[in-house]
Amino acid sequence: MATRGNAIIKGIEIDDIITALNRAYADEWLAYYQYFIEAKVIKGIMKDAAIAELTQHAADELRHATMVADRILQLGGTPLLHPKEWFEQTHCGYDAPKIFDVVNILEDAIKGEQCAISVYSQIAKMTRNKDIVTYDMVSQILADEVEHEEDLQALHDDITEFVTEIKHHIS
Ligand code: FE
Ligand code: FE
Ligand code: MG
Repeated sequence: MATRGNAIIKGIEIDDIITALNRAYADEWLAYYQYFIEAKVIKGIMKDAAIAELTQHAADELRHATMVADRILQLGGTPLLHPKEWFEQTHCGYDAPKIFDVVNILEDAIKGEQCAISVYSQIAKMTRNKDIVTYDMVSQILADEVEHEEDLQALHDDITEFVTEIKHHIS
């Protein structure tokens, strides 16, 4: 087990890992809330399927926040203590829903997942062969984010196809 403080694991500063993880931690909380509120305000065709997906993803993002916080603590760091720091530290930002239509909401959520994928790919690259515990955790989260993106994209495509078909039939 690595020592705490200004320590180094195989040529990588632990403080740099903690900083990267805290930024991801901020992203997870913002992603959690974005999914939570999207599931509440969403309107339109096939919205029940979208609500099920958004609600499940909200729970996953909260679980990711827990995993990341626990690893920050193991490394001797402190997870961000104030929600205002989420906005100061976030990579991916927060996309408040503006148009509540299913297709718009799904498009915002897909963008969020693409950002999460790039964040965790970067941390995986940073820790690979250096901090195996963080690397393993980040790889698990990355697999979830890839699945999230695929689920949302599949739903988005189903809905837009369905809408096109309906328009075709009524014209
Ligand atoms: Fe996540
Ligand atoms: Fe996600
Ligand atoms: Mg899903």
